[in-house]
Amino acid sequence: MDPFDSNSTERANLPRNMIENSMFEEEPDVVDLAKDSASFPTFPALDPDEVAYEPRSSRLLVRGLGENDMDEDEEDCESSARLLGMSFMNRSSSHRPSSSPYTRQPPPRSCSRPSARTMVVCVLFLVIVASMTMVLYFLPGCTFTKTGCKPNKTTPIEPVYPESTNGTLFPWAQLRLPQSVHPLSYDLTLNPDLDNMIFSGRTVIDMLVLHNTKRIVLHSANLNITKATFKLGDGDASDVTVLEYKPAQQIAVKFTEDLKAGQHCVLTLEYSAKLSHTYDGFYNSSYTDKDGNKRVLAATQFEPLSARKAFPCFDEPAFKATFLVKITRKPNYKTLSNMPKANVTALPNGLLRDEFERTSVNMSTYLVAFIVADFTPISKNVSETLVSVYSVPEKKEHTEYALDTASKLLEFYNNFFEIGYPLKKLDLVAIPDFLAGAMENWGLITFRETSLLVGKQSSSLEKQVVASVIAHELAHQWFGNLVTMSWWNDLWLNEGFATYMQYTSLQTVLPHLDIGNLFLAVRFRAMEKDALNSSHAVSTEVNTPEQVEEMFDSVSYEKGASILLMLKASLPGDGQFRKGIIQYLNQFSGLNTDTNDLWNSLTQVDVSTQHQNVSEMMSSWTSQKGFPLVTVSRKGDQVTLTQEHFLLTSDNATHTSSLWNIPVTYVNDSCSLAPECRQVFTLKTKSETLRLPESVKWLKLNYRNTGFYIVHYGDEGWAALRDALSSNVSVLTHEDRASLIHNIFALSRLGRVSVRHVFNLLDYMTNETETTPVLEALLQLNNLYRLLDKRQEHTLVARMKVYILHQFGSLMNNQTWVEEESVSKQELRSALLETACGLNEENCTQQAKALFQKYVDSNGTTRIPGDLQQVVFNVAAQSDEDWPTLLNMYEHVTYDAEKRKMLRGLASTQDARRIVWILNAGLKGDIIQTQELPLVINTVCNGFAGYLFAWDFIQENWDHLIEKFPVGSFAIQTVIKSVTSQFSTQAHLYQVKGFFSSLKERGAQMRSVQEALETIRLNQRWMDKNLPTLKKWL
Ligand SMILES: [Zn+2]
Repeated sequence: MDPFDSNSTERANLPRNMIENSMFEEEPDVVDLAKDSASFPTFPALDPDEVAYEPRSSRLLVRGLGENDMDEDEEDCESSARLLGMSFMNRSSSHRPSSSPYTRQPPPRSCSRPSARTMVVCVLFLVIVASMTMVLYFLPGCTFTKTGCKPNKTTPIEPVYPESTNGTLFPWAQLRLPQSVHPLSYDLTLNPDLDNMIFSGRTVIDMLVLHNTKRIVLHSANLNITKATFKLGDGDASDVTVLEYKPAQQIAVKFTEDLKAGQHCVLTLEYSAKLSHTYDGFYNSSYTDKDGNKRVLAATQFEPLSARKAFPCFDEPAFKATFLVKITRKPNYKTLSNMPKANVTALPNGLLRDEFERTSVNMSTYLVAFIVADFTPISKNVSETLVSVYSVPEKKEHTEYALDTASKLLEFYNNFFEIGYPLKKLDLVAIPDFLAGAMENWGLITFRETSLLVGKQSSSLEKQVVASVIAHELAHQWFGNLVTMSWWNDLWLNEGFATYMQYTSLQTVLPHLDIGNLFLAVRFRAMEKDALNSSHAVSTEVNTPEQVEEMFDSVSYEKGASILLMLKASLPGDGQFRKGIIQYLNQFSGLNTDTNDLWNSLTQVDVSTQHQNVSEMMSSWTSQKGFPLVTVSRKGDQVTLTQEHFLLTSDNATHTSSLWNIPVTYVNDSCSLAPECRQVFTLKTKSETLRLPESVKWLKLNYRNTGFYIVHYGDEGWAALRDALSSNVSVLTHEDRASLIHNIFALSRLGRVSVRHVFNLLDYMTNETETTPVLEALLQLNNLYRLLDKRQEHTLVARMKVYILHQFGSLMNNQTWVEEESVSKQELRSALLETACGLNEENCTQQAKALFQKYVDSNGTTRIPGDLQQVVFNVAAQSDEDWPTLLNMYEHVTYDAEKRKMLRGLASTQDARRIVWILNAGLKGDIIQTQELPLVINTVCNGFAGYLFAWDFIQENWDHLIEKFPVGSFAIQTVIKSVTSQFSTQAHLYQVKGFFSSLKERGAQMRSVQEALETIRLNQRWMDKNLPTLKKWL
């Protein structure tokens, strides 16, 4: 999925939601531990249902502690005890970073010279050991004897079962489903009634019993089950009672006799439900056609946990099966699903029933999709696949670019992966109401209209957005659909890879889109999130639905993609990485994997080159949060590189001993531009030294910023680089220059360099004309400007304005206001002019006003160049007369990219009443679609007039917001970040803390709340430290 709407570069980090209050918590921890691997299909024979998901990291930890020479029984007992210990640790220290082989543990204290205090401690320790022994003794399942501990098989752990809706005990007490029954195939019949916004359905699930069991447990949410029958083997079907436990979205059938391993059985469930009015499950959507009539449609969005809202199913990614879908419709509608249509049957009631072919592949439930709408397609054959793009009829002319791009990319991926796309058709559908950017349903990819539709007139920058979303979703057809992560803890295997492929495929297929600039910028942004203490490891434990939602964040996507780029860049030769992923896809085709499977595949391919072990290097990047700061110090011909965790904390009190295996690259003044100049040094320990001739004037590490780390060069190192750039900008690649700018701002935030040093480096920029360094500097300066503005430091704000216009004034004035072909130049121009007009620079605002007037006078027939539309609409929205004109245009324009820019313009108004109106309109959803509310809030918060209104607004409307956007979802992350990230005072810190903690289960535990609090504290600290310098110097 691409949860990020195309205009937002905001990617929040998420939270560790607490399971502490959950009644499910007790058993999984204990029981997990008793058994080792739970990988399908070889389960331990004893009570396999109790084997729940166990994250790979904890498994490694337990394994690491184990001894070699235990017999099986002993080992079971050992692990129980250890796991108990571990589980205890986990609960008592929820803020600790997760343990990993890369995290150093403090040395154990010894009692060799007992002082009185030490004696007390030692006695206390003995008492604890004794108590633990007692606990273990009485622990069900383990008895200590002379020979050690023996399992006590007569007293199995009995979980506390919850009550079902009908008052009887529900036979399952965990969030993860039992593993004893596995679905093989589903037959789904759906009867949507779009007039009444309801549907009925019938689901037939053919299953295989893997272990003897007396229960079948699966997911169902908001479905009213009206009839259930069960058939075992060749026996007759008979009615069964379905129990439901709503808090876990589970249903179950209990049996008096064991279902036996190896038996086949069929469960048939009939049900009815309402079409969802949010953006997930089987939901209704509508649009207004060209005649002004409202047209309704229904579509699905199942990832991550919403297939269960459309049909009862085993809704976890590892329960793959085949699907056969039948949908009834009125004759004036079309239906679409993952597979091609097999036949159409006329029903007696005048309706038609479409039946689709059974999926030719096993797939996870979150990839199933169906749509009932009156969309029209355009199509094209690519190799063996019919590629089609669907839209509402009015927008058919905006689909051609998508069809052309999807066709090129499909061909590229077929060749690149050396595995053909496995289905006969591939549909790309633009849905009028769609929250995410797009969703990779196998064979039926769904998009937000702005992510798929562009007109012939559209600028290349708009095409870049569409192409990159298509490239992302198509990559998923292999990474995610063909090979799927076993559980959401490894979501990055899907998303990191699709994000990596989205950028790298476009560099080859559509090089004129300059996608490399965007990839560089998203790597910078990912670091900002990952530097916070509230960040998480790429591969991290998740249990609750909110935690699953929260995995859709910049760590899974952008950091995932960044570390893949770093790996690729560090491997010898271009083909190694590709060979490795082809091997991975072949080896696990149709299956589920975890992170280690990927590293192992890459290591296997790599072994022949005697290169370092990929697995060893990469686990340091996936198993711990954050990234390193590499500090360079030179003495004579010795260069010492030291690494530490780049951790932003407001009190400098939290230190970690995390170490990474860093493929450090560097260039120097004698050779700095060509790839051949790059030298590689692997930094695995805290500090290492390399030799360089003393004649080397300067060093630049992290060549072209392909590594996920920040570099501090020390005062002398920075001065040498600054001097080099001042005399000749082109001594470094533009990526390296952008990377220096990003790094020095980051170091200032960390408190390692003063703001004075930052501005010293920026001095060279009066000669800078390349897009990436200018964009990075503008973004950082604008952030600083907004912080000062919100802090009401009016004098400094005025001086900042003068500074920015001085540094970039001539570049701003050199920009033209006519059509521009190059994407890179468009990016540069729009960033410069948006800043200039945002600062009310007269020349800029005059030009923008004139262009808007011309546009209005021509009734929209003269075109504003695509990359200038935003700045023009922003300026127009500041005028009392033009704001209503813009609103009128917004309501009538059909072209989505333009419409969205108008909306951002409208939301950028500094008129308080209009701000309040637009926030409420976004929530109401008639004039402004609710899917756009996060964008509206984000835009309002950037301005001075609206950010406090927005803060009030989300507090007052929190319950409405989480009704539309699930707790933890990317939309909610964006909202929280937007409204809080510019606070920098103690008073606001208290307010934010107070509000979110009052939410309790309605969002208090989100990682983004943690992130918001940390950010405010960091802003506060930065201001305290740097305001005096700024006042003196700026
Ligand atoms: Zn994705």
